[in-house]
Amino acid sequence: MNYILKNANLFDGTNNNDIQENMCVVVENGKIKSIKPSSEEIQEDYEIIDLQGKYLLPGLINLHAHLFGTGKPSKSLGGGTMQKLLVKFIHTPLGKPVIDSMVTKHITSALNSGVTTIRSSGDFCFSDVRIRDKINSGEIIGPRLIVPGPAITCVGGHGDGTFAISNDDPNTLADYVKSHKEKGVDYIKICVTGGVMDAKKKGEPGEVKMTLEQTKAVCDMAHKFGLKVASHTESSKGIEVALDGGVDTVEHGSFLDENLVQKFKDNNSAFIVTTSPALPLAKLSPSITKLNEMCVYNSNVILDGMVNGAMDALKNNITVGLGTDASCPLVTPYDMWREVYYFAKFYGVSNAFAIHTATLVNAQILGIDNITGSIEVGKEADLIVVKENPIEDLKALRDVDMVMVGGKLIDSPKYERNEQIDEWLNSLINMKLKYGAMKN
Ligand SMILES: [Zn+2]
Repeated sequence: MNYILKNANLFDGTNNNDIQENMCVVVENGKIKSIKPSSEEIQEDYEIIDLQGKYLLPGLINLHAHLFGTGKPSKSLGGGTMQKLLVKFIHTPLGKPVIDSMVTKHITSALNSGVTTIRSSGDFCFSDVRIRDKINSGEIIGPRLIVPGPAITCVGGHGDGTFAISNDDPNTLADYVKSHKEKGVDYIKICVTGGVMDAKKKGEPGEVKMTLEQTKAVCDMAHKFGLKVASHTESSKGIEVALDGGVDTVEHGSFLDENLVQKFKDNNSAFIVTTSPALPLAKLSPSITKLNEMCVYNSNVILDGMVNGAMDALKNNITVGLGTDASCPLVTPYDMWREVYYFAKFYGVSNAFAIHTATLVNAQILGIDNITGSIEVGKEADLIVVKENPIEDLKALRDVDMVMVGGKLIDSPKYERNEQIDEWLNSLINMKLKYGAMKN
């Protein structure tokens, strides 16, 4: 289908902070054919959608989401016998369609909330690869998916036994990369450090798990195939190992010193913040998060490290991207708008820069900025429409009026919300944190 979207207040996602009023965007064969003032004559006889002054933006890009979960805090995903049984079931022939239908449901929620590209970050049994193929073949409508299959880590590393496969031998880890490549992954996800729940000591989250040798073995093999590598990394020591090993994106991140800043620059690596799980786990009452005192303390250490580290990165012109870490406790598939909101609120950047980051910068990090991430002639029509001005208030992104992905129109996007989680997260919106000193 071809469309004329007229009377739009256009925010094109490039670093131009202005809204262009009363614009008309022509979409032909899934791509943006022209952008001009609504007053100019349009030749094409396409379906006209009058946006009546609503705001037209590029679709959001979520750089870090696991596709299997709803974000509902759940005992069965927090370890123990229930988790073991669940993971065992997922790996049976009966489990495959179950996990695939869960993934399909969650990516549909994400798309209908305005996310037109997702880089998934470790899922079970290559479900992400299968669903990506269904989307690409046109069997289902979904966001553009960039997928790694299961994460790769050392024995006892983060996600081992759930969304990651493990081995301690560097050669075997490199072989995993080979077989992932054969199965059709788009990039490789590794877990260099542990996570909040894996920590054994107060004050020491993000314990380094993978050695430099293991990390390097994975990165070298991946780069040989032209695949990028992202690493779950929640401590400064872990960042050093990850960057020395050659990773392309440091996920979550932590405090940076001069040495780490230099390594980011030398590698041309990006820092991907995921405030969406870190903030509620650190700041909501343990009666909601069900975390023990050590985990609450460590969550605060991780949040501090992430915010301070990313602000240092921005100051030093290191690329900072955004992801939600969906499927973590309290991170739903449909809350990318919160990540954008947190970025402006806690990291001292403008609303316009936060949207620019969640669109074009994220596309640049993925290396797909030639096809998506902004509203420019020749790019795929990955678009969203919202009623209110998001530059004035990013909460406007919460209710998306229309979504278009690759020119496919979703006229009245709907998805199921978890009202309890919404209510808990909304309580964080007016929270004052000590961050945000820098304005960009
Ligand atoms: Zn993650």
